Parts: sequence; C-alpha cells; structure tokens
Amino acid sequence: MMEVNQALEQVLGTVNRLPACGVPLLGALGNVAARDVLASVALPGFDNSAMDGYAVRAEDAARGAILSCVGEQAAGVRNVGLSLGKGEAVRIFTGGQIPVGADAVVMQEDVRLHDGGARVEVADDVELGQFIRRRGSDLCPGQVILRSGDVVNAARIGLLASQGRVQVDVVSDPVVAVLTTGNELVSPGVRLAEGQLYNSNAPMLEALVRAEGIAGVSASHCRDDKLDTVTCLKRLTTEADVVIVSGGVSVGDHDWVKPALEEVGLPPVFWRVRMKPGKPFLFAHGNVGGRERWVFGLPGNPVSSFVTFLLLVRPALRALRGLSLASDVVGVVTERLDNAGDRPLYVRGQYSHGSFAPVGLQRSDALFSLSLSDGLVRVEPGEVIPPGSKKAILM
Ligand code: AMP
Ligand code: MG
Repeated sequence: MMEVNQALEQVLGTVNRLPACGVPLLGALGNVAARDVLASVALPGFDNSAMDGYAVRAEDAARGAILSCVGEQAAGVRNVGLSLGKGEAVRIFTGGQIPVGADAVVMQEDVRLHDGGARVEVADDVELGQFIRRRGSDLCPGQVILRSGDVVNAARIGLLASQGRVQVDVVSDPVVAVLTTGNELVSPGVRLAEGQLYNSNAPMLEALVRAEGIAGVSASHCRDDKLDTVTCLKRLTTEADVVIVSGGVSVGDHDWVKPALEEVGLPPVFWRVRMKPGKPFLFAHGNVGGRERWVFGLPGNPVSSFVTFLLLVRPALRALRGLSLASDVVGVVTERLDNAGDRPLYVRGQYSHGSFAPVGLQRSDALFSLSLSDGLVRVEPGEVIPPGSKKAILM
C-alpha cells in the first residue's frame, strides 16, 4: 500500500500543464496565462485631469490670482485645439484631455467663481503638474503586463481590456468526466425503492470540479456490471482528459472498475493508499487513441470520495491547468484528536478564525457531518493531538 505523499508524487509525476488555447477575456478568469503579453496602449493614453476643476498655467495661478475662463474640456470630448494663454484657465472634468499650454489643474473646490464662471479666482497654492495624469505614467507600450504562469484575475482581465484585447492565451482546462457506479443508486428527482439511495457523489464530484473553475465537466452512471463499466470507460476515456470514477474500486464481487480499466488499456498505476478514509483509491494513466488520459478511482463512500478528491485529484487538476497546489493553513486544534488505527486519519472539522474543531461522525459514509466541515487535519497512527496544538489544516 502506498503512502499519501508517494501516491501524490506518482500522480503529479505524470502531469504537465496542458497546451495553450485562446479564450475570450472573461473565460480566462482563474486560468494561467500561457505566454507573456506586452502592452500596446499607454496608460493613461493621453495627459488628462485627475479632478473636476480648471486647467491652468501654474505660473499664472498664484493664490488670489484671477484667471479668465476660455473654454471647457470634458472627458470623451475631442480636444478641439483649446490652448491656454497667459492668465487663462479652461474648465475641465475628470478624464478630460489637458489643453495645450496648461501644466496644472486646480480642483473646483479651490476656486471662487466670478461673473457666473467667466472668471475664476484661485483660492489655494498651486504646484506645477498637480492633478495631471501624464500619458504612460502607469504603463508604457512594450512593458510586460502578463507573464506566462500568472493567474488571470479580475484586475488582469481589466488590464488586458485596457489594451483593447478581446482574448488571451491560457493553459487549457482539462475536459473532465465523472462516472458513478452502483446498482443501488438512483438519480435525485425520482422515487426511492427499498434498498436504494440517491446518487449524491455525481453532483458532489461535479461541484468539486466546478469549484476549481473547470466548466467542462459532466456526469454519467453505470451499473455494477463488467460490460457496462467497460463500455462507459471506453466512451469517457475517448471524450475526456480526466475521468473521475466513484465506487466499484474495492475488492467486492461487484467492483468492476479495475478489470474494466485493464480491458480499456489503462491498467492502474497504483491501487490502495494508506489513509482513512479512502484506502481503495486507484490511479490509471496512459494513452487512449493517441491522447493522454488520467483516471482516478475514488471509493464510493461519500466522505472517502471527497477526501481523496481533495488530496489526490485536485492537485492533479491544478497541475494540468498550470496552477500551483493549494497551500494548507495552520490552525489551533480545539479538541483532543487521536488515531488508534493503523492508517493516517483525516479528521473533518470546522475551521474558523484560526481554530479547528472536529465535527460530527467521523465515518466514511457520514455525509451530513462532512457538510458541516470545511477542513481536514491529518492524524498519524498512534498519534495523540492535545487541545491547543497547532496543526496544518487542509481546506
Ligand atoms: P463502493 O465503493 O462502490 O463499494 O461503495 C461504498 C459505499 O458508498 C456503498 O455504501 C455505496 O452505496 C456508497 N456509494 C457509492 N457510490 C455512491 C454515490 N454515487 N452516491 C452515494 N453513495 C454512494
Ligand atoms: Mg459500489
């Protein structure tokens, strides 16, 4: 049986970032830039006013000076060749182009108007250049605005748009398929018969993938039957880069995922990981029709599926997208945690304001207590963690 960190190393050892593709700016949110982008438009693109007020010549605008107002310059209005002579001012609004001859802006709060605004009296000291935003003072053409490997966030989307761009090259998202297995499962929305339960892993796993920012994910279901499992896996490994299977990976008579993968030509790279919950996890990787595929077999118990996704699937999805792995936070454990078992135990709990409290039933089927928790703490076999200890919390 493999240790969790060895399993993760093996998985990540097969992963490189996916090829680049061009996407519309908003579609790039949360993706990684695939190449450097250079600025083509200066920011600001022209000298403009940072304030509503009056464009002046600083040397004429000593406190108490009275200037005659010779025109108006609003944002978005082409500069119609306004220029300032000695003793003159131009009414200007934020973003308005600075008229020729002006070298400072006096904000409107700092003037007194005379003759209905035809003349303005400067009521404060004026510094050369004040409230003028110079062309290129933020960004010059040719500067690198996005580096390969940067995560495209909202501000970077704004910056790309400021350059007139409508798309950007990012590392592709993997296409992901979720496959649930189990004769006992039915879809939510229909009536349960005796002995049946709703398939909760399909939407949960799909949601976990979506929460990573991956929109290309779908779910299918197959029966505990070798032929059905082979047929589904054949189809999904053709359609998707990553297949996340739930259930059917143990040693029961109805667990067909392993033999089906062998038949599909993707024999597991490893099976079983020393962890609780999640031991029967399996991983397969290889080529199908000349394309690289990753298959994760998660145990069907909902908490096992969830925990193995966080520990072993999410890092692979992130690496495929060129993202760095999620880092743990540190929290103070509020209750004694121990592990009398022989596998590392992942305790579910609530993390808030730096402390971690275990919640509810710590069983691999206990979906309700999972829903109350938002972090995991690993407890080694034989370890006792007294209250007040600082531990890494996996979120
Ligand atoms: P398995 O890994 O297939 O042996 O399933 C282990 C346990 O998890 C069984 O009690 C299943 O009924 C349950 N289970 C498996 N798949 C799902 C699912 N998609 N949704 C909810 N429970 C499941
Ligand atoms: Mg099953």
